[in-house]
Amino acid sequence: MLSLVNVETYYGNIHALKGININISEGEIIALIGANGAGKSTTLMSISGIISPRQGKIIYMDREIHTLSPDVIVSLGISQVPEGRHIFPDLTVLENLQMGAFLRIDKKEIKKDLEYIFDLFPILTQRRNQAGGTLSGGEQQMLAISRALMARPRLLLLDEPSLGLAPIVVKQIFETIRKINAKHKTTVFLVEQNANLALRLADRGYVMENGEIVLEDSSGNLLSNDKVRKAYLGI
Ligand code: ATP
Repeated sequence: MLSLVNVETYYGNIHALKGININISEGEIIALIGANGAGKSTTLMSISGIISPRQGKIIYMDREIHTLSPDVIVSLGISQVPEGRHIFPDLTVLENLQMGAFLRIDKKEIKKDLEYIFDLFPILTQRRNQAGGTLSGGEQQMLAISRALMARPRLLLLDEPSLGLAPIVVKQIFETIRKINAKHKTTVFLVEQNANLALRLADRGYVMENGEIVLEDSSGNLLSNDKVRKAYLGI
């Protein structure tokens, strides 16, 4: 479904991605783990077109997307939930969700998707007329994921969904990510500093250090890999 081929991304002179290769098949949940500053967010932003790679290719469903703009990439079925959520604080929950469907014209299906989302996260139903900025951190994360789902993505990019949230909320969000993947075969590419949590959810994982992929394997193998256990699982 998605291939990154020797992708190199820069911020001015800063060489953030140094020729990375990642392959994701439809229906998979893939985790990308690594320390602060390893290049995880840059990887997601390179896929979603927020920052363009200087070298290499990104191929999605047989189409090169690394030269396309973010709105076109969304319309092709890739949605990103950014680190820190970035919901619209002054818009209501419902308006935030409607913004996620901005590029769609199928009104009936949008209504169905709203019902699906309110079923996934019942708390958002209660909060539907409340300003997004007044929600708790966990509720904002649920809203950010839901807003991305309103674009009906085939590939969902999640950047640190557990960041700053209480363990019980994280558990709920991760269970819902699993449900989203199971129900519509939505492919999930998950960036997390919480390696343990991410690898328990994912089928496979990639480990990133200093802008390079240094390991890739099944989640089970990564969870029992000595280097991963020492560096990322604190065992
Ligand atoms: P974190 O887990 O802390 O979010 P990360 O693995 O997602 O880290 P990135 O945010 O992708 O890492 O950063 C990769 C490198 O690029 C880092 O060295 C970072 O300082 C640098 N970088 C990121 N954004 C910018 C920017 N806007 N301008 C300049 N350098 C940047």
